[in-house]
Amino acid sequence: MPFILKLARKISEKCTNCGICENYVKCSVGNLFNEASCIGCGACSLACPSNAVSMIEDQSERKKITITINNKEVKVPERITVKAALELEGFKFTRFPTAEKFFSPCEVGGCWSCSVLVNGNLSPACTTQILDGMIIETKLPADYQPKRVVSDFMAHYVGGVGTPHRLKRAERPIEVVGFTHGCTLRCPQCQNHVITFTGGEALAPIQVAEELTKLRREHKVDRMTLSGGECTLNRPWLIQVIKETMRLNTDENAHFHVDTNGSILTKDYVDELVQAGMTDIGIDLKGIRIETFMKITNVFEKKLANIYLKNAWSATKYILDNYSEKIFLGVGVPHNKAFITLEEIREIGSKLARWDSKVQVTALDYRAEFKRTDLIQPSPQEMLKVGNIFKECGLKTVMVQSRAGHFLL
Ligand code: SF4
Ligand code: SF4
Repeated sequence: MPFILKLARKISEKCTNCGICENYVKCSVGNLFNEASCIGCGACSLACPSNAVSMIEDQSERKKITITINNKEVKVPERITVKAALELEGFKFTRFPTAEKFFSPCEVGGCWSCSVLVNGNLSPACTTQILDGMIIETKLPADYQPKRVVSDFMAHYVGGVGTPHRLKRAERPIEVVGFTHGCTLRCPQCQNHVITFTGGEALAPIQVAEELTKLRREHKVDRMTLSGGECTLNRPWLIQVIKETMRLNTDENAHFHVDTNGSILTKDYVDELVQAGMTDIGIDLKGIRIETFMKITNVFEKKLANIYLKNAWSATKYILDNYSEKIFLGVGVPHNKAFITLEEIREIGSKLARWDSKVQVTALDYRAEFKRTDLIQPSPQEMLKVGNIFKECGLKTVMVQSRAGHFLL
């Protein structure tokens, strides 16, 4: 397929002036929607809740500039990203990590999984602008310091699906958390979309570990959490964050909680997380049928969606079979009748109950958010019905999240 150069164009009639692109998107040329400088990274388009930014084909003549990739001089069109320049030179990118290709899941400069060295500095290939004379090295030194964007460190009063129900109480914090930017998925009702679909300041593992440790002491909690976005992207970074955090917190009460969609959680990744010091994990199972998963996540490539969904389920089973004595696992199942039926909820409940009836399952009410302003939030009664289906399936620890609060059934 020929490589197509693109530009962002704002569709004024659709724009609601929400300010998200101006205030949160990290446009690397610092000049949103200026077609003369746009490098076509697409970050503004992914972040816009109103689909008011189109990526259009650019057929205008572009000057060629000279860059060096892995010691080889090449000519590429000006005003493109490092990722586009690498693709033009035959490098392959993918949204699922493999040994042969560059992993570039978020495409907003959030996860930094696609990091390369640009003039000696670690930079995300997906949103960094190519400039004349640039020197790019795709092989990172063995001792490189991974980075990714994390923000909104805070104390959390409710916790996540991976927080044991006995700890949930609203009067004081349960855990401290940092939110990682970037995701494998493109959920149109993402409740953290301003974090998930934006870039920002990238932090080294030790910076995150120190921030979580400081907050832990301040709020007198035992649990330190990474949520998102999807925190499992950029595996070397996450493993180092957990190791550094546990090195700074050697007491036996210290917990590290990973909140994930499970999309890239292979068995060896689970093993590595546990070895690094992860003690608690929450996995969202966004359906059991591929059509539901694709509707919830807006991952339209069926093969990729299948891999993501299969991984989330297999990781759940693998943890239940191998680590149920060692770490805490909680599972979240989203509900909204716009994308999942009660029959499918029953299918999910039955499968989980067959695997381990004691696993904690939380039914999550998905409300109108981000691009799905048409969604109607399920009523507390509807959510109780979902929770009761899980109980009928034989699950013993069922939580329900609803606008009336969190309930243990
Ligand atoms: S994010 Fe989209 S809707 Fe919001 S101001 Fe930017 S273009 Fe307009
Ligand atoms: S964020 Fe990327 S696609 Fe959007 S205007 Fe800036 S350079 Fe262009």
